[in-house]
Amino acid sequence: MRAFDYIRAETLEQALLELGCPDSRALAGGTSLVDLMKLGVEAPARLVDIGSLPLAAITLGQSALSIGALASNSEIASNETVERLFPAVSQAILAGASGQIRNMASLAGNLMQRTRCPYFRSTDWPCNKRQPGSGCTAASGSNAHHAVLGVSASCMAVNPSDLAVALLALDAEVHLVGPSGPRSVPISQFYLLPAETPEIETVLRPGELITQVVLPRSNLAAASTYLKLRGRASYEFASASIASAILVEGGAVREVAIALGGLGVVPWRDRTAEAELIGKAIGRQSIERYCDALLAAASPTKDNAYKLDLARGAIHRCLDPDRARDDVTARGSSPE
Ligand SMILES: Cc1cc2nc3c(=O)[nH]c(=O)nc-3n(C[C@H](O)[C@H](O)[C@H](O)COP(=O)(O)OP(=O)(O)OC[C@H]3O[C@@H](n4cnc5c(N)ncnc54)[C@H](O)[C@@H]3O)c2cc1C
Ligand code: SF4
Repeated sequence: MRAFDYIRAETLEQALLELGCPDSRALAGGTSLVDLMKLGVEAPARLVDIGSLPLAAITLGQSALSIGALASNSEIASNETVERLFPAVSQAILAGASGQIRNMASLAGNLMQRTRCPYFRSTDWPCNKRQPGSGCTAASGSNAHHAVLGVSASCMAVNPSDLAVALLALDAEVHLVGPSGPRSVPISQFYLLPAETPEIETVLRPGELITQVVLPRSNLAAASTYLKLRGRASYEFASASIASAILVEGGAVREVAIALGGLGVVPWRDRTAEAELIGKAIGRQSIERYCDALLAAASPTKDNAYKLDLARGAIHRCLDPDRARDDVTARGSSPE
């Protein structure tokens, strides 16, 4: 592990000043960054600890909920307002990591965590994301857990954040502050496709910090849920996941929001595919049309093509009321 300077920022102004120095990196809970530094994957010269900045508040306003960048994943998941008005957020967090990690992990750190591609996490292999221009070992190697949507010849690594998927379905805005002042970006524009530059993952500029995420209140958000399919029941990243919310009026879909995890190089949402559902009755046919539109652009390999079926299954399970009732019956409870 490379030696580094450690600076504890006492104020936001100091943090921004320190982050302006070359090769500096913000440190929040450290559950991702320190891990990668131990592996030799990340090697910043300076760590700016932002952990004591006053950026952890969760505040409900008339039209939106604001969650501070340093609110811990545990605090967010167990917040009564989040559970009630944005249930997919709470469920997505609880589907990830472990209790201990969620206690340390911050909102911003979760959104900025890097891929779990094993070739990225080991310095023994070529990897365009870790070392631009070195090649993508996953393309010809083991890629069963890699992305089927948004991939490029340069990189096919999945974005690992469960929380980002829920925030994408709920139209969150990411608030940033940096040397040129504050700005905000819809989360749908926060993550970048790998294209030729997989090492550039977000629109965050050098020296910028996430300060908060703002979630608009709506009936749709209050109806949201999160389903995660994974190789084992806990402590595992998504093979496929879905944050969904649907409002039906007079038997037809009035509003819908669906975001997917585990499938894309970025948290994935396709509003054109969602439009297939608007005005239709929810049933197997309309859901299949949504799935066809969503997955038309997929480019699976022979090892990860199973994700297409997994995604269809997850989407049916979340959206189809009959299927949901079947699931409950299969577990032995009587449906309401
Ligand atoms: C064993 C294990 C299992 C896990 N399982 C899951 C899972 O199933 N699902 C899931 O979603 N996650 C999972 N995680 C990831 C976990 O959620 C992240 O490690 C955690 O959220 C990172 O938060 P942190 O505060 O510790 O970030 P840090 O490690 O402190 O930072 C991570 C990155 O974020 C940057 N950063 C931090 N704060 C800011 C800010 N305010 N502005 C700009 N950049 C910032 C840092 O510079 C760094 O690049 C798992 C982690 C582990 C170790
Ligand atoms: S998929 Fe991306 S992260 Fe994985 S080896 Fe290829 S370039 Fe690296």
